[in-house]
Amino acid sequence: MLIKTAEFICSNTQISKLPPPVMPEYAFIGRSNVGKSSLINMLSAKKGMAKTSQTPGKTQLINHFLINDNWYIVDLPGYGYARVSKNKKEDWNKFIRTYLDKRESLQCVMVLIDSRLEPQKIDIEFCNWLGEKGLPFVLIFTKADKQSAVKTDQNVAKFKKALKATFEEVPPYFVTSSETHDGRDKVLAFIADTNRH
Ligand code: GDP
Repeated sequence: MLIKTAEFICSNTQISKLPPPVMPEYAFIGRSNVGKSSLINMLSAKKGMAKTSQTPGKTQLINHFLINDNWYIVDLPGYGYARVSKNKKEDWNKFIRTYLDKRESLQCVMVLIDSRLEPQKIDIEFCNWLGEKGLPFVLIFTKADKQSAVKTDQNVAKFKKALKATFEEVPPYFVTSSETHDGRDKVLAFIADTNRH
């Protein structure tokens, strides 16, 4: 898919103020610092569209970016940041889980996983929750340039194995790097194929 236009539309702290659910949404989510903003900028080919390296967990915003006047990248707040207070974590849960569970225009959840790490409990739990809710999701392994392809493959295999405990079929996955742009075409092709707008 060729990205012709990518435009920031709005930031929200309230579900009631989200844009009308008239275009397919691909929601990007992962642990703080997983490389979500970098990936969104890489996919949209617009540097600085999503803000990288903000103080993690500070503001719980849902950001909408309109792509090609046809679909949205939805940037969800990162999860699992240790320094966030218990109250904030609960707010996160409620706000994001309501969005994910109720948003009728949500096409697919793009779960970002740091390819350098062994499977993390919080990521597995989040995938299991998506599975329980019957929400379609794919895995995007980030920062693949940071280690050898062999190491990445090992971590991907371990993650898939961890998911096999609950999923009959492991969802599609992509290995990406925002540095080298590896995986960009494949992620965009997946979105083009599943975008029914
Ligand atoms: P976010 O908190 O999930 O939005 O993560 P950011 O996009 O802000 O990235 C966190 C840090 O990881 C920043 O210092 C980025 O430059 C770095 N980073 C993100 N993606 C990549 C990548 O693909 N390769 C490398 N080498 N660094 C990355």
